[in-house]
Amino acid sequence: MSNYETVIGLEVHLQLSTRSKAFCGDDAGFGAAPNSHVGVVSLAHPGTLPRLNEAQVRYAVRLGLALGCKINLENRFDRKNYFYTDLPKGYQITQDAMPVCVGGAMPIRVGERWREVRIHHIHMEEDAGKSIHDVDPDNSLVDLNRAGVPLLEIVTEPDLYSAGEVDAFMTGMRQLARYLGISDGNMQEGSMRCDVNISLRKKGSRELGERCEIKNLNSMRFARQAIGFEAKRQAELLDSGKPIRKQTLKFDPASGKTHPLRGKEDAHDYRYFPDPDLPPVVLTKKFIAGEKSRLPALPWQLYAQFTSEFGLSDYDAGLLTQEPDVAGLYLKLCDSTKNYKAAANLIINKVNPWLNEHRAGVEDFPVPVNALAELIGLVDANKVSASAANQQLFMGMIENPDLQPLALAEKLNLLQVSDENYLEQLARQVIGANPEEAEIYRKGKKGLIGFFMGELMKASKGKADPKAGRELLVKLLEQGL
Ligand code: ADP
Ligand code: MG
Repeated sequence: MSNYETVIGLEVHLQLSTRSKAFCGDDAGFGAAPNSHVGVVSLAHPGTLPRLNEAQVRYAVRLGLALGCKINLENRFDRKNYFYTDLPKGYQITQDAMPVCVGGAMPIRVGERWREVRIHHIHMEEDAGKSIHDVDPDNSLVDLNRAGVPLLEIVTEPDLYSAGEVDAFMTGMRQLARYLGISDGNMQEGSMRCDVNISLRKKGSRELGERCEIKNLNSMRFARQAIGFEAKRQAELLDSGKPIRKQTLKFDPASGKTHPLRGKEDAHDYRYFPDPDLPPVVLTKKFIAGEKSRLPALPWQLYAQFTSEFGLSDYDAGLLTQEPDVAGLYLKLCDSTKNYKAAANLIINKVNPWLNEHRAGVEDFPVPVNALAELIGLVDANKVSASAANQQLFMGMIENPDLQPLALAEKLNLLQVSDENYLEQLARQVIGANPEEAEIYRKGKKGLIGFFMGELMKASKGKADPKAGRELLVKLLEQGL
């Protein structure tokens, strides 16, 4: 294996979150009763005609702009002819010769660095229905709800070199789709799947080897297994002097192996031709400019801002940019506090776990941003200890979202005392009660300050501001009472 470099190009299918299907008004939602989203167009009744869904075009342009693609102002739909058991028309409407977007690149993070994966093109198409082979022992069943649901297919150049990089690309694509609001990118629900094209070449060589294509991987775990298995299989063939034959493969999760579906010899001729039922898509510059002006800040842009402007670690920036809503919350919080690191910790350690535990979104989080900022301010001003803030006060705020954090801290008896007179009185008391320790301290055993701090905290019932208290103790011990 060590003599070879793995080279991978992806074809990613992204199911769009439009309300209706690509070419008719049927509901495009996931999870409904089988065959309940099947009007006459989905069923290909004779005489029915497809009609373009504007949202699909809009979403395609949005993704293309985010990835820096060239948008083809004129693009066109083609028919891909094939025996589709779960697409009643007998052909898929897709884009072959004139796709909506070409070129562009997707930034992915590999190890410590960002790198670009070139995009070959992005085209619009429709999904097929779903054949179900494991419910009825004697028959295959078909659910046509998915037939006609809009997809984007993103085809990369062969720019990926490991399963880890494929993972980074797919994770990044899911994240981007969510930022753009065009798809939830959930692989478990089939909203995102990929075909993996994989070849090997001698290390150092620039030439591409012959490739195989593993079809329709619907989880990253399977994709990793499939890539691992396939790279090993190809390496063994090459090592024994045998050629790689161009093949389409299927991955079997049960065995962890790839199996041939078809070879080059029986490659399909899809007889692509322009769909006569759909006129070319003609986009105006104004339409493109409108989409461009509405693009949100993109994940890699926020990542750069979080690490440079806010000084966060790569790890924290990665966590805070995963979901667009969480990134947005962090940005808002940083409008109200200058302690960016504390803001990051608060969201990562307190808000995010609460959201996960309650399976809630940021919009369901009960505490307003300004109250979160005030919580950080209370700790920074030594009014509340960090541990009291993280534990009692944070939970108290969730239970009483209408109370100001300061008032709540008072009510919960969490305010630290930094009043000089009061603290001095306590410090004198503590030193006076422990004259021997005070003497030893003065003779040089400075570690005893910990003992006096403990006594002081006890005497104040845990509420002395530790910083102010410590300063006073040191002063009084040094100078003598
Ligand atoms: P086809 O026309 O057979 O579909 P393409 O040239 O369009 O093939 O490529 C499809 C996908 O395969 C792209 O993602 C591309 O990057 C990838 N690919 C092409 N050649 C190789 C190769 N030698 N090794 C790995 N991936 C490849
Ligand atoms: Mg394809």
